[in-house]
Amino acid sequence: MHHLSERNIIEAIARQSRGGPPELIKGIGDDCAVVRKAGGLVDLWTTDALVQGVHFDLAWHPPRLLGRKAASVNISDIGAMGGRPRFALLCLGLPAACSRQLLDELMAGFLEVLTMHDMVLVGGDTVFAGERLMLSVTVCGEMEERHVCYRAAARPDDLIWVSGCLGDAACGLALCRQGLRAEEAYLSLCRAHLDPQPQARLGRLLAQSGLIHAMMDISDGLATDLAHICKASGVGAEIMAPDVPLSPELQKTAPALQLAPLELALQGGEDYQLVFTAPADSSAPLQDLCRGAGRDIACVGRITAGEGVMLCREGERQDITFRGYEHTF
Ligand SMILES: [Mg+2]
Repeated sequence: MHHLSERNIIEAIARQSRGGPPELIKGIGDDCAVVRKAGGLVDLWTTDALVQGVHFDLAWHPPRLLGRKAASVNISDIGAMGGRPRFALLCLGLPAACSRQLLDELMAGFLEVLTMHDMVLVGGDTVFAGERLMLSVTVCGEMEERHVCYRAAARPDDLIWVSGCLGDAACGLALCRQGLRAEEAYLSLCRAHLDPQPQARLGRLLAQSGLIHAMMDISDGLATDLAHICKASGVGAEIMAPDVPLSPELQKTAPALQLAPLELALQGGEDYQLVFTAPADSSAPLQDLCRGAGRDIACVGRITAGEGVMLCREGERQDITFRGYEHTF
């Protein structure tokens, strides 16, 4: 049995899709599609689905937080280009055994996040989905064309930056699986999995600053997401292991679960932080900008003229290209 990776499937679909009209600036292959419109502006389009039993388990995922997450993961992709999310479409696949209360809580969470980002739900669909609950969301955003940050814009000698801490969501998922969601000490880790906070405002700020080159959000682990930037840009990357930002909670909790914090940070998915590259002389203004916005960023390595993603740890170099979380079919 040959299993298709998500990456193989996307490549196969992209090969069959035809080119678009001249206003289509970017189709398949970035966090969002980019379509030019009047006034120097572009529309950004993205879609992402959450499926019961694959992306969430109702045994531990409160419906309100699930609704929030369905909105947040899409908003994250808009932020990853530097855009402002505006409109959402929601397709709900409902199982026969779906209560009114679950539906109400789901929608309350979804709409809460939309309101927070000044967005509007403008349509969608509801379908009967057999056994599983599914939320498929499409978000349209907007921004100035000259500020769009693509994956393909990394240059050799750029420094590589990430926002926040990495690995918390993967550790939170492990905690939820072990029935430890309610423990006070694990709340922040579990929340990272159950209710991720998209960095759309930071993404917008970075894009408008003109200080950065490539950007994307970290949904499948830094090893894989940075590999996408490298492949699209025709460059390589070196990550310095000691510089990868790990939260104190992760460092304390992961070893107790027999998990390595750094592996979770590089290979675990769903952090929804940003990874971006910038020339070295942007470092000081970048740090000032993010400090002013109350956001932590960390420099984790640099872009090279080679290819692939290398992890540098205790004098050794290890190839971790696309070693992050990957869905197989
Ligand atoms: Mg993305």
